[in-house]
Amino acid sequence: MSKLYTAKDLEQLIKQGQSLCSVPADAKLTPMARDIMRKHKRSAPAGTAVSAAPAAAPAASGSSPRIHEPVLPRAEYNWKPGADPKTAAELERFFFSPEIQALKERICHIGKRIWSKGYVDGNGGNITVRVGDNLVLCTPTLISKGFMVPDDICMVDLDGNQVAGTRPRTSEVNTHLGIMKAEPKAKSCVHAHPVYATAFAVAGVTPPSCLIPEPEVFLGEIGFASYQTPGTPENAREVGALAKRHQSILMQNHGVICWGTDVEDAYWKMENTDAFCQTVSISMQIGGPKAYGPDKLKDLILLRKKLGMPDHRLDELKECELCDAGEVTVNTQAAGSACSCAAPAAGTSVDEALVKKITDQIMAKLG
Ligand SMILES: [Zn+2]
Repeated sequence: MSKLYTAKDLEQLIKQGQSLCSVPADAKLTPMARDIMRKHKRSAPAGTAVSAAPAAAPAASGSSPRIHEPVLPRAEYNWKPGADPKTAAELERFFFSPEIQALKERICHIGKRIWSKGYVDGNGGNITVRVGDNLVLCTPTLISKGFMVPDDICMVDLDGNQVAGTRPRTSEVNTHLGIMKAEPKAKSCVHAHPVYATAFAVAGVTPPSCLIPEPEVFLGEIGFASYQTPGTPENAREVGALAKRHQSILMQNHGVICWGTDVEDAYWKMENTDAFCQTVSISMQIGGPKAYGPDKLKDLILLRKKLGMPDHRLDELKECELCDAGEVTVNTQAAGSACSCAAPAAGTSVDEALVKKITDQIMAKLG
């Protein structure tokens, strides 16, 4: 199988002073990797090999107009480790600093989006952004997420004690903190009750793999946390334990919590999760989902890992176990194994009896 190269791989080669000619002609390239190859081909003099040396910086003046290289904007908030504000005056200054005010506005903006998508009702849902070793911005309790203003946002430490803000923090912040303590890459969490994904959580099932490429890359495997009372230490422990392996977690009989490197990233995972669950729900009504096969999924998992997102599947499963398409995983002790070596091959139809079995399981769960 030809190797997959991402922009990160090529940048690594360049950093090591290697030629991009070492990339095999039949290599698979992500779109950003392709851009880098094109750029280096352009900058290499005619007749020379594609060099790994970075392109020379354009002359400051008297030459052709500067062509700006596309830059991926980074929204992740990076604090200086060990430099959290401590005194009341320092905390106050920090809490109203321009960069924290901008983050509060982003939280309100995401609040509007989860509300307008119908992912939350009443005062449901909550949002957090980590802003220090021991500081996290969070949404307050008893507020509609669609109508928050920056002054509504509060700040807590990693034990959930409120350290700034006039409105009381949400009690569900503990679940977010459970994730952040377990996974340092989790800089933001979004929790909501989107109807389709919550229906899966209520039915006790997770959607199958090998059906749509994007969720496999950007979500990875969706986790499932057994029911605990929202906001309790038990719920935080249960969800936190899953955070290293899953960026999107269905909380049984409750809703969904997703984490990301920034608040928009965490929100995207919420959107991806609900859209995925909606598509699977509809496909089950029109003949059942059809898999593209585990060999293709392997490529997608590799791409996900190269993008720096966690995924344990290739380390723990055989290729034949990767694909569980059509087998909606029922998360009960009686449900048995989540995957099977007898998974359907690419393009095969899910057996009618299997669809019936799944439907029966879901109907039985619904009582
Ligand atoms: Zn909730």
